[in-house]
Amino acid sequence: MLPVFTQAIPILTKIEKAGYEAYFVGGCVRDYLLGRVISDIDIATSATPSEIKQIFPRTVDVGIEHGTVVVLWNNETYELTTFRTDGEYIDFRRPSEVTFIRNLHDDLKRRDFTMNSIAMDKGGTFTDPFCGKQAIRSKVIETVGSPRERFHEDALRMMRAVRFVSQLQFSVEQNTYHALREHAPLLENVATERKTVEFEKLLIGKGKEQALQILIDTSLYKYLPGLKGKQPALEQMVKLNIEPLAIDEMWTLLLYLLGTTIDHPETFLRQWKLPVKKIKKVTLLLQLLHHRLQQKWTVETLFDAKLENAIHTEKIYNILQQHDVLKGIMDLKKQHSLLPIKERQDLAVRGDDLMKWYDKDGGPWIKEVLQIIERAVITGKIENEKVQIREWLTKCNLK
Ligand code: ATP
Ligand code: MG
Repeated sequence: MLPVFTQAIPILTKIEKAGYEAYFVGGCVRDYLLGRVISDIDIATSATPSEIKQIFPRTVDVGIEHGTVVVLWNNETYELTTFRTDGEYIDFRRPSEVTFIRNLHDDLKRRDFTMNSIAMDKGGTFTDPFCGKQAIRSKVIETVGSPRERFHEDALRMMRAVRFVSQLQFSVEQNTYHALREHAPLLENVATERKTVEFEKLLIGKGKEQALQILIDTSLYKYLPGLKGKQPALEQMVKLNIEPLAIDEMWTLLLYLLGTTIDHPETFLRQWKLPVKKIKKVTLLLQLLHHRLQQKWTVETLFDAKLENAIHTEKIYNILQQHDVLKGIMDLKKQHSLLPIKERQDLAVRGDDLMKWYDKDGGPWIKEVLQIIERAVITGKIENEKVQIREWLTKCNLK
């Protein structure tokens, strides 16, 4: 067994000693069987959240109404979810209430796909009532039970199916695929935040082209924020067929391809309820990309953009131009390394020096003068050296 699992075995043992059952379950078991890197360990248990809290001193309530408690153990966090069945589904959303149960089989039955409904005990023995291992071997995504019913219960599962296509490069089993086409409009009822989580995972997956093609073919894209009527941009993205990019780069690329068909990038990104910080970053990258498409980097644009943003931009630029991405980035890094300073803090003079030289109190003028010096240094007019800068300032007669 992998260390990620063996480290968590004491948790399972403690739960069992207290008289309950506990298993590894969900994505970690699936990814283990696939030989993929395991992102997080999920544990399913017959103990209720309050029983778990009696066993472990350090816990965090994250979704107690759904039966989930996070246990802190040896500087790691583990999500423990009580076996449950989901109650009535209203409006194709997650159930408003869940019922805790003591039986593993029924807990596995409420899970979305067969590949995600395998449990593994601490000895490495699997419980796999829905033949998830076989699905993993055949690389197929199929719902546990009738896909129509399961998508009716929770329409987000349709987005999850497509993001797994991208993430795992699996295909969608035929019945499940038909149900996607039939029930795509139900996605309208799903909370945006949940769609965003899945769409972002889709965008950064290796099989994003296949996944985007499924979004198009099943019409699911029409029920995603701001994408109705935007089939051409998605098709262009499919055609690009590129290596996985970071999520901010993917949003930037998508916005670029949407081009003039959207009014404001910020509005589009807000529709996805992305955090303000991400919206700002992507908007900046989009501006830099437009600039880059018009002209090469200059010392000034490169200095202002900062290396990290310039690299993101250069990557997308080279993809769009079908140029060699690695070479583009190497050239850019070289150009950046030649900049006399990399940021304002690298200047040989500071505000204190200016106050002394001009015998003036601090104020907004300092920032202005520093900016003038900064431009002169990066464009090579003067060297980044205190005496020279002072002489140059005297000559310029700056007040
Ligand atoms: P990842 O590797 O991205 O974490 P995951 O399969 O672990 O993938 P999670 O969102 O962490 O995805 O969910 C953990 C498990 O909970 C899933 O493997 C699945 O068994 C179950 N699950 C999650 N979302 C749903 C859902 N909407 N309907 C039914 N079961 C779900
Ligand atoms: Mg998970």
